[in-house]
Amino acid sequence: MTSRLTDQQLEQLLADPKLRDNPLLPVLQQLVERDKEQRERLERLLRISDSSYEMARTQTHDLLHQYDRQLRRLEKITRISDRYQRSLLELNEELKKAALRDPLTGLANRRLLMERLREELDRCRRGREPFSLVMLDADHFKRINDVFGHETGDRVLCMMADTISRQLRGYDLCARWGGEEFMLLLPETGLEQANGIVERVMQAVRSLKLAGESETLLSISAGLTVYLPDEDVDLTINRADGALFQAKNNGRDRLQVVLR
Ligand code: GH3
Ligand code: MG
Ligand code: MG
Repeated sequence: MTSRLTDQQLEQLLADPKLRDNPLLPVLQQLVERDKEQRERLERLLRISDSSYEMARTQTHDLLHQYDRQLRRLEKITRISDRYQRSLLELNEELKKAALRDPLTGLANRRLLMERLREELDRCRRGREPFSLVMLDADHFKRINDVFGHETGDRVLCMMADTISRQLRGYDLCARWGGEEFMLLLPETGLEQANGIVERVMQAVRSLKLAGESETLLSISAGLTVYLPDEDVDLTINRADGALFQAKNNGRDRLQVVLR
C-alpha cells in the first residue's frame, strides 16, 4: 500500500521538469485542484456544523438556566403561599375564638353559652343528670361606677369574672350574660350541689377589695334553677331570671331557688 502524498510532495511532483511532457500531467493537475476544492468545501461545512452545534448548545444551556430560575421562583411562591395559608388558618382560629368570648372579661359570651347549653340538652336527652343554671347580677353596680369611675368599674367586672371562675369546676361554664350579669352552667349538678357552689361564689365576691380600700366592695344576687327533662331551654333561662328577680326584691345579696 502506498503512503499518502502530502500537499507539498504533490506540488513538488507537478513542478518536476522530468514530468513536464507527460500527457497525464494536466489530468493530475486537475485532480489535485478538485481535491483542494473539495477539501475546502468540506472544511466550510464542518465550520457551519460546528457553529450550529455551538448555537444549539448555548440555547439549551440558556433554556436550562431559565427553567432553573422559574423553578426557584415557583418554590418561593409556594413557600409564601403555604405561609400565607397557615397564617390565614391561625387567624381564622383566633377569630372563631374571639367570636365566642366577651372582650372585656375573656369569659364565654352568650353565644358560647347557648352552644354549651345545646350540648348539655343532648346529654340530658341521652339520660344524663340534669344541669343547674344560675343567673348572677352584681348588686348596685351603678354605685361602683359612680364612686370609682367607669374604668374602675370595668376592672371590678374583670375581678368578678376571675373570682367567680376560680370557684367553679373544670367542666362548669361562667358566661357574661350582659353588663354586670353572669350565667353559670353547672353540668350534671343537682340542687344541693349547685347551692353549695353558688354560696361559695357569692362569698368569694363579697371578699373582693379594691387596693387601699378596706370596705366590702360589692355583693351579688343569684337565681338558681335545675333543668327539667324535655323542657325548652328558654323556660329554664326564664326561671333562673325569675329567681334572680326574687332575690333582688327580697333584699339582694342572696340566693333564690325556683324549681318549677
Ligand atoms: P341592681 O342591684 O338592681 O342590679 O343595681 P345595679 O346598679 O347593679 O343595676 P342597674 O341595672 O341599675 O345598673 C347596672 C350598672 O352596671 C349600670 C351600668 O353602667 C353598669 N355596667 C354595665 N355594664 C358595664 C360595663 O361593661 N362596665 C362598667 N364599668 N359598668 C357597666
Ligand atoms: Mg346589678
Ligand atoms: Mg343587671
